[in-house]
Amino acid sequence: MEFLEQSIQYLPGVGPRIARILEKEAGITTVDDLMRYYPYKHIDRTRFYLIRDIKDEQTYVQIKGQIIRFEYQGEGKKTRLTAQFGDGYNTIELVWFKGTKYVIDRLRLNTTYVLFGKPALFNDKWNFAHPELEPLSTYTEKGTMGLEPYYNTTEKMKSSNLGSKQIRKIELTLMQMVMRGIPETLSQDILDKFKLMPLTEAIVQIHFPPNPDALQRARQRLKFEELFYVQLHILRQTKLREQSFAGFTFPIVGHYFNTFYKDYLPFQLTNAQKRVIKEIRADMVSGKQMNRLLQGDVGSGKTLVALLCALLAVDNNYQACIMAPTEILATQHYQTLKGMLSDLGVHVALLTGSTKKKERQVIHEGLMNGTLHILVGTHALLEDTVQFYNLGLVVIDEQHRFGVAQRAKMWSKNMQPPHILVMTATPIPRTLAMTIYGDLKVSVIDELPPGRKPIQTYHYYNTQRQKLNQFIYKQVMAGRQVYVVYPLIEESEKMDLANLEQGYLYMRETFPDFNISKVHGKMKPAEKDAEMQRFLNGETHIMVATTVIEVGVNVPNASVMLIENAERFGLSQLHQLRGRVGRGAEQSYCILLTGVKLGADTRKRMEIMTSSNDGFYIAEADLKLRGPGDMEGTAQSGLPFELKIANLATDGRMLEIARKTAMEVLDADPQLQQPEHLLLDRQLKKLNQRQINWGVIS
Ligand code: ADP
Ligand code: MG
Repeated sequence: MEFLEQSIQYLPGVGPRIARILEKEAGITTVDDLMRYYPYKHIDRTRFYLIRDIKDEQTYVQIKGQIIRFEYQGEGKKTRLTAQFGDGYNTIELVWFKGTKYVIDRLRLNTTYVLFGKPALFNDKWNFAHPELEPLSTYTEKGTMGLEPYYNTTEKMKSSNLGSKQIRKIELTLMQMVMRGIPETLSQDILDKFKLMPLTEAIVQIHFPPNPDALQRARQRLKFEELFYVQLHILRQTKLREQSFAGFTFPIVGHYFNTFYKDYLPFQLTNAQKRVIKEIRADMVSGKQMNRLLQGDVGSGKTLVALLCALLAVDNNYQACIMAPTEILATQHYQTLKGMLSDLGVHVALLTGSTKKKERQVIHEGLMNGTLHILVGTHALLEDTVQFYNLGLVVIDEQHRFGVAQRAKMWSKNMQPPHILVMTATPIPRTLAMTIYGDLKVSVIDELPPGRKPIQTYHYYNTQRQKLNQFIYKQVMAGRQVYVVYPLIEESEKMDLANLEQGYLYMRETFPDFNISKVHGKMKPAEKDAEMQRFLNGETHIMVATTVIEVGVNVPNASVMLIENAERFGLSQLHQLRGRVGRGAEQSYCILLTGVKLGADTRKRMEIMTSSNDGFYIAEADLKLRGPGDMEGTAQSGLPFELKIANLATDGRMLEIARKTAMEVLDADPQLQQPEHLLLDRQLKKLNQRQINWGVIS
C-alpha cells in the first residue's frame, strides 16, 4: 500500500491507543490525514522581540522580560488581573480574565520570563491577553526551533495525554519520513505558473517552517491545492452532466409570452429583471439542460421572472412547475400567477399537502393530458404520483429550504431532465456561490423596482419599550400593520415558545384596542394559515410570530418589523426578516431589540444592519463574522470538501484563480487523460472516495 494510505497506528510514536483517539477525536486515520492535520498557529521562536518592535497583530511572538507589578481591575464578575511587563526598555500590559488566582500564585516579580503571545490592540494600547510565561531558566533548549507549531486538541485528547506538544512530536517524526518525498498533487505547469512550493516541501513547512516567509508560502500552496480540487471536481461533474443529457430547446417566444408582456404586465420590468430573463432564455435555446441560480434580494421581483420563464415553456408546448417551501408561500405564488394569467387562458393549479383528494384527481388528469400548464406547490410536487405530460421547466423558490436529494428528484419528472431554475433571496457571497453552487450558472437581480423607500433600521435596547410602544401605536393608528418576531431554536424551544407567549400577552395588555395574531411552527398548518390570512386581510394589526414568517410572505401594508432578542439571530436571517416590510408605498421600519449588555460581535452585527440594506454586503459581512460553515443556506447544501486551510471569506481572489485554472485544464483535456494530468485524475478519485457528500445537483 502507498505510504500515505497506511494507517497511522504503525507510525513510530503512535500505536493503537493513540491511533484510536486521533481517529475518534480528529477524524485522522491515514498518514495523509495526519500530515494534513495542520497547526492552527505558530510561535516565532526565531528571535526575541522587543516591545517597541510590535507593530501589528502578527504571529505569536516571544519577548524576554520581567513582571513589574500586578493589579486587579474591575468589579464582581468582571474582575480582571493585569500586570505590567517590561523588557528593559518599554512596558506592556498583560491581562487575565480567568484563572487569576492561579496566575498570581505561580508568577513571581523580579524573575525573567520568556513571554509568548499574540499582541492585540486594545484602547489604542498593545496588550497580551492570557500570554504564556515560561521562566528563562527552563526555556533554553527550544531556542533554535524556528516557528513552533500549535495543534487543535479536544478535552478528550488532552486528558489522554495527547496535547499539542505530543502531537508536535508525532508530526516531527512523521515529517522526517515525509521529507524523503511524497507524490506531488499538482502538475508541474501549475506549480511553475504560480510559483508554488512542491507538496513535500509545503507539508514539512506548514508544520515546521524555518521562518514566517516559508510558512506563508507553504500556506499559499496548500490553500491553492484545496481550492483547485474543489473547483476541478465541480467543473468536471458539470461537464459530465452536460455530456450525458441533452436539454429541451425553447426556440419560440410566442403568443403567451408576448401577449402577457404587451397587455398584462402590470409594470415595467427593471433592467436587472430584463437582463436575467435574457440570460435564462439563452440557456433555454442552448440545447443543454439549464441549471441556474437566480439570486435577488427580497422584493427584487423574482416571482415575475419565474412567471415569464414559465410562459416561455408554455409557448413551446412544455409544462412548468414552481415549488415553494411553505404552504403560505405556494398559495401566494398561486394567487399571483392565477391573477395575472387567467384571462390569458393559461391554466394554473395549486398542489399542497392539504389539497383535497378530488381536486388532486383533477390536477393529475390535467397534468397528464397537458391541459394544465403551470403547477404551483409545496413538497407535494415531489411525490411520485405527480406525473407530467411534458415538463420542461422547474422553478424552485427559496431553494436553500430544500435538500439536494429533493431538488435532484425533480430531474426525473420527464424523459430527459427539465430546465432547473433555483431562486434565493439569501444573497450568497460570490466565493460561496462558486463553491457550493459551483455547478450552477448564476444570475443576479441587483436592483429593486423603482419607488421603494429604503427601510429604516434602528437598534433599541429593551429598556426603551415605552418609546417603542408609542411608535407602534402611531403606526397602527395610521393604518399600518406590525410584525413582532421571536427567535425559536430547537435547543431552547420550550423557553422560546414561553417567551413568544409572554410577548403575545404583553402586546394584548399594552394595546387592548388592537387585534393581535399569533403564529408559530408548533401550530397546526390550517390554524397557522388562518391566522396568516387574517393578518393578510388586515383583520389583525399586530402579528406576533416566530421565524415561520421569514420566507417570502408578502403583506404590503405591514410597515414595522420588530425583532425581539435580535442578538440571537444571524445577519442573513435579520436581513430576511427585515425584507418582510418595505413592500408597499409607505415608509417602513425595522427595529432590532436587544438587551443592554452586548458582546463586540453582536454590536457589530447591529451596526451592519442599521447601516446597510444591501443583502450582498450583509452576506459578505456574515461570512467574515461567522465563517462558511454557519452561513444560512449552506448547512444543508454543505461544502463539497471540508476546507482545512483555505478561507472563503478571505481567499476569494485565490479561489477565482483556482477556478479559472481548473477550467483551463478541463477545456484542454476534459477526461484528464494527458500524461501531465494523470496525477490530477488520481488525486481527484482519491478525494472522491473519501467524500460521500457530493450531490448530483446543488
Ligand atoms: P422576491 O424577489 O422577494 O420574491 P417578489 O417577486 O415577491 O419579490 O416581488 C416583490 C413585489 O415587487 C411584488 O409585489 C411584485 O409585484 C413587485 N414587482 C416585481 N417586479 C416589479 C417591477 N419591475 N416594478 C414594480 N414592481 C415590481
Ligand atoms: Mg419570493
